[in-house]
Amino acid sequence: MFNIHPVRAFKDNYIWVIHNQHYAAIVDPGSASAVLTYLQQQELQPIAILNTHHHHDHTGGNVTLLQAFTMPVYGPANEHIPELTHGLRERDTVHLAELSLDLAVLDIPGHTAGHIAYYGGKSLFCGDTLFACGCGRIFEGTAQQMYTSLQKLASLPDDTLVYCTHEYTLANVCFAKEVEADNPILAQRAIEIEAQRKHDLPTLPSTLAMEKATNPFLRCDQPALINAASRHAGKRLQDPISVFAELRQWKDTF
Ligand code: ZN
Ligand code: FE
Repeated sequence: MFNIHPVRAFKDNYIWVIHNQHYAAIVDPGSASAVLTYLQQQELQPIAILNTHHHHDHTGGNVTLLQAFTMPVYGPANEHIPELTHGLRERDTVHLAELSLDLAVLDIPGHTAGHIAYYGGKSLFCGDTLFACGCGRIFEGTAQQMYTSLQKLASLPDDTLVYCTHEYTLANVCFAKEVEADNPILAQRAIEIEAQRKHDLPTLPSTLAMEKATNPFLRCDQPALINAASRHAGKRLQDPISVFAELRQWKDTF
């Protein structure tokens, strides 16, 4: 079995290190220094870098890590990733033999045009697409694409552990409560998240079951969210994609 450890970087990034006490795979190393310290402390040998998309806060450490270690760099085939050796797309699988872990690759465009996720061992590494109680901004895609990508992730098993890349949960929960005031599971989650953040603890991983119950961006077919988005838009929104687009815009300025 393996552990998944959050290495903190910048203001609110997590660099996930998947390891079995000997070998480690590094997900989205935006910075190398904290990762190198952790590898050294734990005496881990890195065997792969896994990038979800091209943004600098997810790839900025690639070059420095490769100056210290030789290993493959996996990432989206359709984006410019520093030092990429294995370009991936939907239906590809990453075999991490040293960790006895296979990761399936999912195309999830929207935040960026080529964004991918890795799924395996009940764990989902989804970069800046699905966040705990939120979702990423739409920079290079359309609302339709982002919605479809989120639905694809939501179709994975309920007990999937969600490892996203930013600690945005508290702000996301505030927005979720604004748009769905009467959700008791969300109210309970808000209490837990506030307590965790008060002690500077990570709120991740989340589970897909919890996201489906509380994340407004996965609940665009629910009457409460259709009503909230319609009120904000000043007109009746008919379909989940319009509801999603309105909620995403609302959150951008919340
Ligand atoms: Zn990003
Ligand atoms: Fe990011």
